[in-house]
Amino acid sequence: MMMKQQFRAAALICLCFTVASSFVTFDHGQRITSHLGATEEEVDLCIIGGGISGLSAAITAASTKRNASITLLESSSNIGGRVRSDYTSDGYILDRGFAVFIEEYPMSQVLLDYNALGLRQFLPGARVKLCNDAKLAAVSDPLRRRRDIWKAVSSPVGSFNDKLRLAPLFYTVVTKSIEELFDMDEVDTLSCLRGYGFSEEFIQSFFAPFLEGIYLTPLDKQSSRMFHFVFKMFTLGSASLPKGGMQTVANQLGDKARSLGVDICCDASVCSIQQKDGKFAVDINKASGTAKRRAKSVVMATNERVANQLLSSFIETTTAPPLTQRTVACLYYAFPSPDPLLEPILILNGEGSTKRNARNHPINNVCFPSVVQSSYAPNGHELCSVSVLEKALSEYNGDYEALDIDVRKQLASWFPEHASNILDTSIWVQKEIYVIEDAQPIHFNEENCANVNGGRDCTIFRGEQLPDGMYVCGDYMATSTLNGALESGVNAGNAAAKHLNK
Ligand SMILES: Cc1cc2nc3c(=O)[nH]c(=O)nc-3n(C[C@H](O)[C@H](O)[C@H](O)COP(=O)(O)OP(=O)(O)OC[C@H]3O[C@@H](n4cnc5c(N)ncnc54)[C@H](O)[C@@H]3O)c2cc1C
Repeated sequence: MMMKQQFRAAALICLCFTVASSFVTFDHGQRITSHLGATEEEVDLCIIGGGISGLSAAITAASTKRNASITLLESSSNIGGRVRSDYTSDGYILDRGFAVFIEEYPMSQVLLDYNALGLRQFLPGARVKLCNDAKLAAVSDPLRRRRDIWKAVSSPVGSFNDKLRLAPLFYTVVTKSIEELFDMDEVDTLSCLRGYGFSEEFIQSFFAPFLEGIYLTPLDKQSSRMFHFVFKMFTLGSASLPKGGMQTVANQLGDKARSLGVDICCDASVCSIQQKDGKFAVDINKASGTAKRRAKSVVMATNERVANQLLSSFIETTTAPPLTQRTVACLYYAFPSPDPLLEPILILNGEGSTKRNARNHPINNVCFPSVVQSSYAPNGHELCSVSVLEKALSEYNGDYEALDIDVRKQLASWFPEHASNILDTSIWVQKEIYVIEDAQPIHFNEENCANVNGGRDCTIFRGEQLPDGMYVCGDYMATSTLNGALESGVNAGNAAAKHLNK
């Protein structure tokens, strides 16, 4: 009898769950409403794109213009855009591409609750695999860890002269404000580093793999302003990983937007926007059919390529070409503990410009996320992430098996005591290879490139004035960083709220 009742109760719960599942999606504890009706609904503001910029636009508009009806439409199954994580059934967190949370970003400090993210910090500095050194050399940051001063002086990475040259660089980034750093003359980062007097060997063994891993592009195609900015962020604060993976950064923003009344609809891809009777008619494709929204104001928070397509009926001529976008790949390996390196630190390929990013030497950087943040792997297991940049990736022409073999060989040479495990595909199990195209817009030497601190005018898209009530945001409208995406979203959210107040 008892058994029968329990069975009935279980069946009822299953039935409720099935019915509920038909209109909600559960994604790592997130309940994502998705109830777009087929009818044309009127809203005050429609935000297109649920990446970091769209979410920050939503929070800003909703907190500035209380009681406004705001819908955010996201084409994929969850919010976050380029800040997404996958959660495997066997307990690993795989960020979609290796990323770190930079705690010093001013806009992150304004919009995010750091305690709730459960951040765990990387050690300052890095380990570097030098060309003719079997060991991983330490690059320390004595400004952040005083006790590392001797380690810093004795490190084989860079000469004594290079270490002396670091002083004026630290002085510049510590004493100047972000605004002042962006006001400095802009040159490419390679020339800037040579200007500080660093040796080519130091530039190639440390700065190149470090900065190319951040901005995904060679040093001569990076902006000195963006270099000073990110160097300041790393000098003053920590890089860390959230407990639930990078996705929790987006989830926290999404929760905040929802608590302010924003209706977030996933699996809702906007296919066209027209202007009708002074309002914007937004056409949406969903798995189950189509839907429409009529909005007084629209914020375009997609990447630049999609924005260009959707805005084609509003802009006469697109004079400026789209920004170059960078691609990056990330390979994840799961393996039984212990880790080859027990320090929570980033490992850089400092093997020099001829070897780094070439076939047979594809690795740019390595990290063991589970050493930084134990939640990234189940108990007794570890996770390794390997980043491969565009140049090395192109050498493999889509042959990811060959890439995997070369990555393992390179890792085995870096960690010789673990070589046999690393080369054994049943012990170091490949969990995923992510190849992320359009990972970051270029930020140097192209028209309207992503190097504007504070963001550019959100009423102008690639030099063209947008209609009243329509705004654009995204990292390409500010700087190619999470901070840039946040600040451009704030700009667009404020502008939209102001428009609704007219
Ligand atoms: C692998 C990787 C690592 C990174 N690491 C760092 C880091 O360590 N530090 C840092 O500061 N920055 C990092 N970045 C950059 C940072 O993640 C981005 O700058 C930022 O997330 C961009 O946000 P966004 O809102 O501008 O764009 P996106 O994240 O691209 O958001 C755009 C959204 O629009 C949606 N969309 C597109 N078309 C439509 C449509 N038709 N209808 C509805 N929705 C649509 C997309 O699905 C997406 O969700 C990294 C980026 C990558 C890819």
